[in-house]
Parts: sequence; structure tokens; C-alpha cells
Amino acid sequence: MIDPFGRSITYLRVSVTDRCDFRCVYCMSEDMTFLPKAELLTLEEMDRLCSAFVRLGVRKLRLTGGEPLVRKNVMSLIRGLSRHLKSGALDELTLTTNGSQLAKYASELADCGVKRVNVSVDTLEPAKFTKITRWGKLDKVMDGIAAAKAAGLQVKINAVALKSVNDGEFDSMIEWCGREGHDLTFIEVMPMGEVGEGARLDQYLPLSVVRANLAKKWTLDEIDYRTGGPARYVRVRETGGRVGFITPLTHNFCESCNRVRLTCTGMLYMCLGQNDDADLRSPVRASEGDELLEAAIQEAIGRKPKGHDFIIDRRHTGAAVPRHMSVTGG
Ligand code: SAM
Repeated sequence: MIDPFGRSITYLRVSVTDRCDFRCVYCMSEDMTFLPKAELLTLEEMDRLCSAFVRLGVRKLRLTGGEPLVRKNVMSLIRGLSRHLKSGALDELTLTTNGSQLAKYASELADCGVKRVNVSVDTLEPAKFTKITRWGKLDKVMDGIAAAKAAGLQVKINAVALKSVNDGEFDSMIEWCGREGHDLTFIEVMPMGEVGEGARLDQYLPLSVVRANLAKKWTLDEIDYRTGGPARYVRVRETGGRVGFITPLTHNFCESCNRVRLTCTGMLYMCLGQNDDADLRSPVRASEGDELLEAAIQEAIGRKPKGHDFIIDRRHTGAAVPRHMSVTGG
């Protein structure tokens, strides 16, 4: 699938549920209203959709959410999709998770051919972790990370950079990840969904500033390493570990965007930062064959926009798009 700007679309991210067992302050409001279960695609429909994308050229699937591992029977979806790894049609099947359920599922994930997981950890201080996630417990997540490592999964830690919240901890996170052998990626907070008056401006910390500060303590060597995602990596000479930067605000990476995002109700978003979408649930439900579905996917790819234009500053404190990150899964 080639979009109007000549970009090859090879990466599908799927939000398997909008529900989550955490309520991270920058991601959701505390009193989120979730979708009625009847509106969700069934796991069989999700498999059909993902498989259509794989047939059309997607090589990498990432399950996300909400929290993907809280969807009932999610392992049956993952096991089903793993057939595309076995057949060679798919290069990678992976997940972004908050880690709360990883202790339970890590070995089964490895058994399904999952090789890497991204785990979101914004702080290594237990009390602060609960403050950021509102409902999360750091020790449970650490148990999950340990289980993932024991199962042979590579773990990448995702940390959203939050001004005056975790910016004093980046050195210790680099040390910890270096010691444990985890890649670490910092992410700029994106203005998605309302999270409180003025909150985005308070939260936003440009990674250009973070990187300049890190360079005072660490030797950051540029490397070509890519995972198919938007992060740009350096190697920290002192720890040997990789640190990535996802910079949707300070350095937009849309020119190399290879991704589209499917929600748990079957809406396809061609850009994280734009509102245009395509309904893929109707074609899935309209017929047993996949011709309508494949045509709808191709039509949507033909509408993929050039990029997003996230801005957070004193004049732009509101949401760039009304939906929270939990709808499209980051
Ligand atoms: N529950 C899973 C998790 O915690 O990783 C998957 C879904 S979560 C929405 C995916 C990623 O998006 C997490 O790393 C989270 O920190 C990040 N995220 C959520 N809202 C964000 C925002 N407004 N800006 C930047 N990153 C955000």
C-alpha cells in the first residue's frame, strides 16, 4: 500500500480495547466514559481486519490500547495472529503495555512468537508512579518486566517526559535501563484529548531540552538503529544502552510515517494527529468475503494526510484532536 506522498504503509497499530486499569494523568481524565461492549469489534473481526492488512502488505503489527492485556481473551487473538509470523507474512507481532498483567502473560506471549514488548514506565519512584497513573502500582509492573525478561522478551521502556514531574529522574532511568539491558525511549507529551485546563502546557517538556541536558552528563553517540517506529536512537557510551527520542512536537517525523491505526470499534485513523478516519467495521460486517474490506482499506490509505501539526504553547493549550490517546493507542 502506497499513500499519496509515496510512503509505503507497512505498520498497523491496533487498539484492542479503550479500557485501561490505569488512568495516567496525561492520557485520560479520571472519570473516563468507555465504549459499551456491544460497539467493540469481536476478536474474530479484529483478526479478520488485521489479516486483511497483512495480505495488503503490513509487516508489523502492534497491539495497544487502552491496555491490551485487559481485553478478555486477548491471548486468543494474539495466538491466532501468530500464524502470520509462522507463515512469514509478518515480520513482527508486538505490544505496548503498562505491564500490570505481564507477569501473567509473558511466557504465553513469548510462546506466540512475540519477541519484544514496550512497557510504559514514567518514573521509578513508587509514590510518584501511583500519582501519575492514578491507579497503578510500580512493584506489579516491575514484576511484569522481570517476567518478560525471564521469558526471553526484549523490553523497551517508554517514558513520557513530564515537566517538573519526572525530569529529575532521567539519569537514573538511563542507569537502570543500561543495567537491565532495556532500551529506553522518551516521548513528548501530545495534545490529544482534554485532560484539564492548561494541563498540557504544564506537562510539556521539549525533548530538544532533555537531550541537551543529558548530553552534559552522558556521551550520546548517534546510531542508525531503527525499529520501524518513529524513535531516533543514540547509544549512551557509559552504559552501552540505547536511548530513543520520539519528538512529535520539536521534530516532526511525518515524512517517514509508515503507520496507520485501527481502533477497537473498527475506525481507521491514517494520522495520529488528524481527525480524518475510515469506517472498516461496516465492510467487515457487510459481507463474509474481504473484497469490500480491502477496497475500504485502499481507499483510506489514499487519504493519508501529509502529517500532523501538534503545537503546545501559550496560545495553543487545548487538544489538537478531541480523542484521547487510549482510542488510537499511541
Ligand atoms: N496501556 C498501554 C501502555 O500504557 O503503554 C498502551 C496504551 S498507551 C495509550 C500507549 C503509550 O502512549 C504509553 O507509552 C503512554 O505513556 C503514551 N501516551 C498516552 N497519552 C499520551 C500523550 N498525550 N502524549 C504522549 N504519549 C502518550
